[in-house]
Amino acid sequence: MREKAKPFNVKVAVRVRPILPHDRDPRPVVRVDRESAKPSVTVVDPDKEFPGLKQNIDYLRVDYIRERSYEFDHVYGPTQPTDTVFQEAVEPLIGPVLDGQNVTIFAYGQTGSGKTHTMLGHRGDRGVIQMALAKLFNEQKEHTRVTVSFVELYNEEIHDLLIDEERRYGNHNGVGGLDLREDPIKGPCIAGVTEMPASDVETVMALLRAGNERRTQEPTSANDTSSRSHAVLQLAIESSEKPETQHRGRRVKIKRSSKLSMIDLAGSERAAETKNSGARLQEGARINRSLLALGNVINALRRGAQKGGKSYVNFRDSKLTRLLKDSLGGNCRTLMLAHCSPTTLSFEETLNTLKYANRARAI
Ligand code: ADP
Ligand code: MG
Repeated sequence: MREKAKPFNVKVAVRVRPILPHDRDPRPVVRVDRESAKPSVTVVDPDKEFPGLKQNIDYLRVDYIRERSYEFDHVYGPTQPTDTVFQEAVEPLIGPVLDGQNVTIFAYGQTGSGKTHTMLGHRGDRGVIQMALAKLFNEQKEHTRVTVSFVELYNEEIHDLLIDEERRYGNHNGVGGLDLREDPIKGPCIAGVTEMPASDVETVMALLRAGNERRTQEPTSANDTSSRSHAVLQLAIESSEKPETQHRGRRVKIKRSSKLSMIDLAGSERAAETKNSGARLQEGARINRSLLALGNVINALRRGAQKGGKSYVNFRDSKLTRLLKDSLGGNCRTLMLAHCSPTTLSFEETLNTLKYANRARAI
C-alpha cells in the first residue's frame, strides 16, 4: 500500500525594513520584487557599485558576483506596512486555528531587522499579533475559551514572562527555569506556567507589553539591546460545541482544542561575528542551537512530505523544538516571517537569513 503524502503547510515570507536614520551605511543592498508571479528577494554585493574592482572575475561563478535571488511565498519591501503582511500571510491562518488546527508563526532575523516591529508593533503601528487577536476574538464561536501563556527561552531555560522577576528567577521556578513535560493527551506542557484566561485584545496586549519588558536583554558589542531570548506567546483555544452529535444513542459534546503560537525569535546573528567571549558567546551558541534545530525540523518535515513517506524528525535537539512538537508538521500550519536589514553593513547576515528561509520552503 502506498503511503499518503503528508501535508507540508509551511509558508515563508520575507520582510525587508526601510533604511532608518540610525543606519550607519545607508546604501541599500536588497531588492524586493512583488510584481512578478514569483515574489523574490535579491541581494546585491555592495562592491558592484565600483565596477573597476571586479574586472577580472569569472562571471560564470555566481559566488564571485555575489548577486543572489530567492523566491518566497510572500515578500515585503520598505514601503509595505504591517497591515499588508497581516492580510496576505497571517490572516488566512486564523480560520484554521478556530477550526482546530495548530498554527505557529515565527519572526526570524538578525537583531535590528524588524522582528519585534512586525510582531508587537511600535508606538502607533500595530503588530500582527494584535491584528491576529482582533480577528480571533471577533470570529470565535460561542463556548470558546482562550488562555494565554507567555514565556521566554533563554539559554535553553524556560522563564514565565507573566509573573514578576522575584518569582520568575527565585525558588518558584527552580534554578533552571520551568520544566517541559510531555502529556500524552495535551502534548508538550510547561509545568507551573501561568495561563491567563483572555477574551479581549487589550487584556492580552497588556500582558504582552508587560511580559516583553521582562525579556532578558543585555548589551553586546553588536547591538546595545540585542535580544538573546526567544519570546513564545501561546494561545490555547478550547471550544465545546452544543450537544448535537449522536454517539451510540447518546448526545455528545464535541470538544475542539488548538494552539496559536507566535514567536519572536532571538537574533539570528552568529556568535562569532558579534565578537563576544565567555558567557555571552555560550549564549550565542545555545541560541543558534535552537534556531538550527528549528531549521532542521522544518527541513525534515519538508523531506517527509516530498517523499510521501516516513522521515525521521528530531524534535529533541532544543527546548524550542520540544515545546513546539505538536505545533509543527502533521496537520499544523506554519508561517516563517524572515526579516532583513536593508544596508551594506548587513550584507552577510541578510544572505544567511535568506538561505535559512529558503531552506524552510517547499520546493
Ligand atoms: P528586532 O526585533 O529584529 O531586533 P526591531 O523590531 O526592534 O528589530 O526593529 C529595529 C528598529 O527598526 C526599531 O526602531 C523599529 O521600530 C524599526 N523598524 C523595524 N521594521 C520597521 C518597518 N517595517 N518600518 C519602520 N520601522 C521599522
Ligand atoms: Mg526584537
